[in-house]
Amino acid sequence: MRAPGATRSSQTQGADSMARTPGQPESAGVALLGATGVVGQNIVRLLRDHPFLRLDEVVASRASAGQAYGDAVGSGAGDPAASLRLKVPGDRLASPIVLSALPGGVALELEPEYARRGHLVCSNASAFRDDPRVPLLVPEINAQALSLLDAQEWSGGLVANPNCVVSGLSLALAPLHARHGIEAVTIVTMQALSGAGRRGLSAWETNANVIPNIAGEAEKIPVEIRKILGADFPVSVQVNRVPVLDGHLASVFVKLQDGAKLETTKATLREFESPEHVVCLPTAPSAPLRLLDAPDRPQPRIDLEAGAGMSVSVGSFAADPVYDACFTVLVHNLVRGAAGACVLNAELAVAADGCRRPRTCVVSLA
Ligand code: NAP
Repeated sequence: MRAPGATRSSQTQGADSMARTPGQPESAGVALLGATGVVGQNIVRLLRDHPFLRLDEVVASRASAGQAYGDAVGSGAGDPAASLRLKVPGDRLASPIVLSALPGGVALELEPEYARRGHLVCSNASAFRDDPRVPLLVPEINAQALSLLDAQEWSGGLVANPNCVVSGLSLALAPLHARHGIEAVTIVTMQALSGAGRRGLSAWETNANVIPNIAGEAEKIPVEIRKILGADFPVSVQVNRVPVLDGHLASVFVKLQDGAKLETTKATLREFESPEHVVCLPTAPSAPLRLLDAPDRPQPRIDLEAGAGMSVSVGSFAADPVYDACFTVLVHNLVRGAAGACVLNAELAVAADGCRRPRTCVVSLA
């Protein structure tokens, strides 16, 4: 990559193993929208010491504008982003890469505006996930969807990562669909409190309680799973907010076209590997799927940090008289489900095509 402000190159370093091969892009400047939120703060953490993405600009709402980032989020002097001044949404940005952790409604307006100005926007928001022009990327599954950038009308580009729970579900379902063909899926989620953002829910609502609804969530899950897998099977979903801090758990019940049963489907999931051009990216885990044999795993408290939060844990397998494959999926909603997914998409966009796509590599800002 030859991005404006390119200053250095170094060895890539993986999320869970620090040894990587040489030949990675030179460093590229990054601006972060929604930098003070739950997801934004995790992106800042992931970009610390990143081998080729360099956080240069932070943006939050008008209410936070002008504050030092460290004062706005209460981070200590050890935070290299602490002295960056928060910019106002809509400000001109110098960084070729814009990572967005904006609320959906704000993203709808601001993300295409930055794409129009020539930035490559990598979004966490739901605003454009179902837009056929926009790649909904899980690099281990559908890195080829990045080619949709070529047909976008903006001089920059816009890519999205999926909803937090779909980030985990899609990784568990993709190998089953590829090898056995999925006929139908039923999903029941148990989603953590941090999924509701920094202002979240009140203690009164959540303490020792379960809420069997998350507004707008159940509708997104089938649409996003089908887009990522390029499939049209029916997906039945019920969602719950549970009193867990981080980590979304989902019970998954799958009907397969070939009727493969427990041990065969476990073997399929165990054999799933990240493609070579993805596993070499700094934020990619060496094992995107981690299979657990104990019947009472995965658990958020024990398994959340696997692969530095980028591995999806799958376990609690059971034979079932109705479905072919029944298991539980755990995804770190703030890392694989949000911040890590967004950073991984940026790494893929910058590195994957060896700079054949000029607008993502030599970005010309309007
Ligand atoms: P959050 O904690 O509420 O943070 C929202 C961020 O957006 C803050 O930095 C806030 O700045 C900024 N903001 C709010 N209104 C704005 C405006 N009008 N203009 C510019 N900036 C504005 O939310 P979050 O949980 O981090 O989620 C961010 C996005 O990621 C959402 O689209 C969400 O759906 C998505 N997402 C979240 C998760 C999760 O697990 N939390 C997972 C996947 C995807 P101030 O500090 O100045 O208010």
